[in-house]
Amino acid sequence: MAVYLCHEFPELSEHDARVIEAEPGRVLLDRSAFHPGGGGQVSDTGWIEYGGGVVPVTGVETVAAPTGEDQVWHLLGDDVELSGQVQLRVDADRRSRVAQLHTDSHILNALVIERFPGTLVTGAQINADGTGRMDFDLSQVDNDVLRGLDVELNGIIGRGVEVRSTYVDAAEASTTEGLVRSLSVAPPPTPDGTLRIIEIDGVDRQACGGTHLSNTGQSGPVRISKVENKGKRNRRIRFELV
Ligand SMILES: [Zn+2]
Repeated sequence: MAVYLCHEFPELSEHDARVIEAEPGRVLLDRSAFHPGGGGQVSDTGWIEYGGGVVPVTGVETVAAPTGEDQVWHLLGDDVELSGQVQLRVDADRRSRVAQLHTDSHILNALVIERFPGTLVTGAQINADGTGRMDFDLSQVDNDVLRGLDVELNGIIGRGVEVRSTYVDAAEASTTEGLVRSLSVAPPPTPDGTLRIIEIDGVDRQACGGTHLSNTGQSGPVRISKVENKGKRNRRIRFELV
């Protein structure tokens, strides 16, 4: 994982960029604030303004290049072939919904681990429509206990807890218990061997490459809509912004 522009400048939603390579319907740019998705989180969408008008960006596709550096292609809503200088605009509403739910998923994760120490995350999905889910390796638990966690979750949202991102040495992180929760949602290290850590002050600290809020108070209230048994050992918690 590269250090994304959206990690360094989370508030940046509009900027200039230069076309590096283009095909009808897709474009590679010299820089982009779009989050490419990953770890269960959907990518950003938005718009590109160019000399001939505006074209929607419907998604982002990361392609491993032979040189080793990933290429981040922006997928366009029509078959236009872009060139020269363009202006990018991230769909800020979608980004906000995803960042709220993603941050809330870390809180939920912390609450589950507090109740059931050592629980592993087996999957996560953060959608653009204001819904998400987390899967936990949990057996023999009362689903009503999980369903009731949204009371505390909303309490932490309401307290307005600071959320920070830092980078730690990847080798060191791998030996710190609880920092890398799940191979399926953890980001790979950056090229310089560091790992991005998201810390919700006093609540949760884990490796993650997604987009988050800078304070839990920026999230709207959340409801746990459903707890499902997925196999003998797995519980799927569905949650949504209300
Ligand atoms: Zn995260």
